[in-house]
Amino acid sequence: MATHQFQTEVNQLLHLIIHSLYSHKEIFLRELVSNSSDALDKLKYLTLTDQAFKDLSFDPRIDIEFSEEGDAKTLTVSDTGIGMNRDELIESLGTIAKSGTKAFLGQLTGDSRKDSNLIGQFGVGFYSVFMVADRVEVVSRKAGEEGAWKWSSDGKGEFDLEEAQRESCGTTVTLHLGEEGKEYASRWQIEQIIKKYSNHIAFPIFLHYTKTDYDDKGKEKGKTPTVEQVNSASALWKRSKSEISDEEYQEFYKTISHDTEDALFHLHTRAEGTMEYTTLFFVPKKAPFDMYQVDYRPGVKLYVKRVFITDDEKELMPTYLRFVRGVIDSEDLPLNVSREILQQNRILAKIRESSVKKLLGEFARVAQEEPEKWLEFVEQFNRPLKEGLYSDYGNREQLLDLVRFRSTKAEGWTSLAEYKERMLPDQKAIYYITGDNDKTLRNSPLLEAYRKKDIEVLIMSEDVDELVIPMVGTYKETELKGVNRSDAGDDLDEKKDSAKDEELKPVIERMKSVLGDRVKDVVTSVRLADSPSCIVVDENDPTMKMAQMMKAMGQRDLPEVQPILEINPDHAIVTSMKSLEDDARFADAAFLLLDQALLVEGEALQEPAEFVKRLNRVMESAL
Ligand code: ADP
Repeated sequence: MATHQFQTEVNQLLHLIIHSLYSHKEIFLRELVSNSSDALDKLKYLTLTDQAFKDLSFDPRIDIEFSEEGDAKTLTVSDTGIGMNRDELIESLGTIAKSGTKAFLGQLTGDSRKDSNLIGQFGVGFYSVFMVADRVEVVSRKAGEEGAWKWSSDGKGEFDLEEAQRESCGTTVTLHLGEEGKEYASRWQIEQIIKKYSNHIAFPIFLHYTKTDYDDKGKEKGKTPTVEQVNSASALWKRSKSEISDEEYQEFYKTISHDTEDALFHLHTRAEGTMEYTTLFFVPKKAPFDMYQVDYRPGVKLYVKRVFITDDEKELMPTYLRFVRGVIDSEDLPLNVSREILQQNRILAKIRESSVKKLLGEFARVAQEEPEKWLEFVEQFNRPLKEGLYSDYGNREQLLDLVRFRSTKAEGWTSLAEYKERMLPDQKAIYYITGDNDKTLRNSPLLEAYRKKDIEVLIMSEDVDELVIPMVGTYKETELKGVNRSDAGDDLDEKKDSAKDEELKPVIERMKSVLGDRVKDVVTSVRLADSPSCIVVDENDPTMKMAQMMKAMGQRDLPEVQPILEINPDHAIVTSMKSLEDDARFADAAFLLLDQALLVEGEALQEPAEFVKRLNRVMESAL
């Protein structure tokens, strides 16, 4: 026998699971049964696709036994699945192979209420057995290999491995139930947990128990060992919608998603005709914890004629719908589709395309008919949908109707359609402002003239907005325009007052020569009311924020973006600059107008020390 140490992260995870999932102890059984079901899926697949396994006699089943005699209570879950060899036992039960797990551990807050939610989403897996067992033994034999191995541990830092016996392939997990788990050595408990979580597992789950027989007078007559199937073992998605209750949908959702909460809504459809397939999709209430990780776990499983094919195929859904959970079951795909074939498969591409359309249609229906649910959806999934504007050109119109924004005129979220309805009679464009922070944006001088003219501006403070929205261009024939663009003045029709312009010309020329290449141009502004200056970017340049993002993503050879400085011809500072003869003081004023315009937009100053010096000089002479 050899003793091994758990990987450090395993210890951390064990500790966390035991402490934060306490109120949901019973899920250990769901996890064991799901693992068995996965193992059966894998072997079933091999027997159907791999010559080497063609002749294997495969009797897929899960058996649960328990002993409630005396103090030594045990619970055993056994399957005839693919099994694990020695290396796999170490890899699967002694280390954390998935990189997502490490990221997950990094996200934990220490607040057990929040964490248990996270753990729920993540799927607690095998280690949850240590919530109820003092000692756990796993005897496993890998399909196609000789010899079995026994893994055992008390979950306290180490595990042992030794050779063992098992007649055929599969895995048997034996829990020596502790004080915390002894209640689970009971027929009623087990039945109830299986029905609750694992009713739709596609394989039969048999419970072994001893039935007590009574005679007519109610006297105990004897005991009979009994084996009874406790789950319905039907693929829920194959049943007709009208026969499935809401509770059944929610249970099923929990078994496939590991979520502890109900789904927000689901969409169950069947396609018949040239192509036959069934899809059952769920939208979770909370964004999956790994939604913003590159190595997120896909949420949709692929089946072919009820045979599980894969749950690790990102191509089943476009990336921006990665939060969707569910099942696709095709009647037309071959069973032995390899990954490469899967990714180029025309049938699958069609299924995916129409699944996306149906999902977007369902989102639109919820938005229309169930505003409260829709609000929950928007809070969680608005941002990934916006990614779709960028990546899914074909569905851009539908997506544009679904994404929501903040606005200067509406409380909460608003849609582009609602904006259009509120547009002034002769307003030409949909205006928006992008940046980091809602509050900074709302206070931007760029909005002053729009406010004065009562024109609504969308406030876009999500990072994707900056990249995605300028690319969108138009919504139902109305142009979208960033207010920080030099050409966004169309609706601020106050024609530039040419007399004023003429008068200001010398000031502008002088400012240009003082500011040099810090600015692309200096012009009089039509969009300012109370502020003396603001910056905009040329309609053909990237915004300063976008340039920063491009740099952060590794684009080096970008020229510095030069802003255009706009000055307010009616502002006292600007008008007094007309008669300011002192060159040094004029330069101070010019730089201060530029730097303050940058500051209110939340930009960093190139030379903050210079800014402070100038400010102090001006204050000194003013006080
Ligand atoms: P998850 O199921 O989320 O991958 P677990 O901690 O539950 O995580 O299990 C870890 C791994 O151990 C599984 O991915 C699987 O490879 C292996 N495993 C667990 N139980 C079984 C089983 N009954 N038969 C075969 N392999 C198993």
